[in-house]
Amino acid sequence: MQCKECTESVEMLTNEHLRACSGLTVHEYAIRHHLPLETLLAPGQINAGDDNIYPQVTGSPGEPARAALLGLRWAGLVRERGALAEVPGEVRRLDLLLWLEDRLQDYGFRFCQEYRYADATHRVVATNFLRTRTTNLGRAGKTPVAVEPLPDFIQALAVLMAHVAEYQAGYLFMPFARAADGRDAAARLRQEYGIDCVELDAADTSEGVLLRTETVADAQALLHLMEGPLGAMPGARERFTAPMPEATVSKELVFDAAHFITDHPAKCSNLHGGRYLLHVQVSGRIDPVTGCVVDYGYLKRAVNRLVVERFDHHTLNYAAPELAWRSSTEMICVHVWECLVDYLPGLSGLRLYETSQSWCDYRGPSLAEHQARGTSPLLDHFQRLERPPKTGDGGVAPQRRLRAVAAG
Ligand SMILES: [Zn+2]
Repeated sequence: MQCKECTESVEMLTNEHLRACSGLTVHEYAIRHHLPLETLLAPGQINAGDDNIYPQVTGSPGEPARAALLGLRWAGLVRERGALAEVPGEVRRLDLLLWLEDRLQDYGFRFCQEYRYADATHRVVATNFLRTRTTNLGRAGKTPVAVEPLPDFIQALAVLMAHVAEYQAGYLFMPFARAADGRDAAARLRQEYGIDCVELDAADTSEGVLLRTETVADAQALLHLMEGPLGAMPGARERFTAPMPEATVSKELVFDAAHFITDHPAKCSNLHGGRYLLHVQVSGRIDPVTGCVVDYGYLKRAVNRLVVERFDHHTLNYAAPELAWRSSTEMICVHVWECLVDYLPGLSGLRLYETSQSWCDYRGPSLAEHQARGTSPLLDHFQRLERPPKTGDGGVAPQRRLRAVAAG
């Protein structure tokens, strides 16, 4: 076949040829020329398995390699599978994976692209990895930290950010695979750099933690701090800083719930139930690497955990104190907005259908406004409710008298 990059005639397309003639891999070539992999690959290249020989490395890894490996471990990207350990890559960030291959040489990592026939989709799909022998990574995590100095914190954090951080509405989100690592990182950012992060529950793992910069200013300070290390990694800094078009995405979720409207003059004061349909809208810049404003999976997990799991098959008036008095669509929207905005600062609209003929559209405060003002007074009237106690004999309030008896 003829290589479309160099027009040379080749027996088969391989990464060796393509990387020499164009710097591309077969996977990127297939996308660039919009051709299915099965038309490019020779039969022997598909389902071939990994026939690379990974050498046993000797000697201690250098500081750049140690920091990069620590960042990948924090991000949960080092997967040990028996004799081999691997770091997955995405086709849109192969530059970054190849940069890491170079950075991680001391651990013996090598780039590997595999092509498999996927039965479910009836096509050949490619996956990209760095692989090495598990034994090359040492007994990481088990070695007492005092034996060697900790790897460079900023370099390690930059590697985590380049791979798994998300940028939404000016806030940075950083998932850590282990909560303890995330807490340590947050403490160091606060103590050493004055950058505050809040800790959110990780969306998909109970062991992890999701850090979010507390404010937009904290995110700016973090990006400024990381300017050098992120700038050294291909595509890493542009992900957060390059101007990009904006878009709005929506997710529709349903929950079945009962409610009643206290004091309602008509039949809505009766307990009744139905299927609620919730549309959650998020707006923002399209991430140049993921191609998304926000991952639909993240959006769905966040709304499921923060809203649907609490409300589905419940009586709304009892499921949330904020709705005990009024569980109207409007009140539900104000409350749902407050539940979601910490996780979705790009939240730009909610639509809640109580029936197909009745719905509410709502747009609430930004995360910064919500942080400044707290819960809407609309929702916490009964939480704030305090009446001066009735004065009884001798002007001593019943509560105070009780306390006096207990003390005496
Ligand atoms: Zn070529």
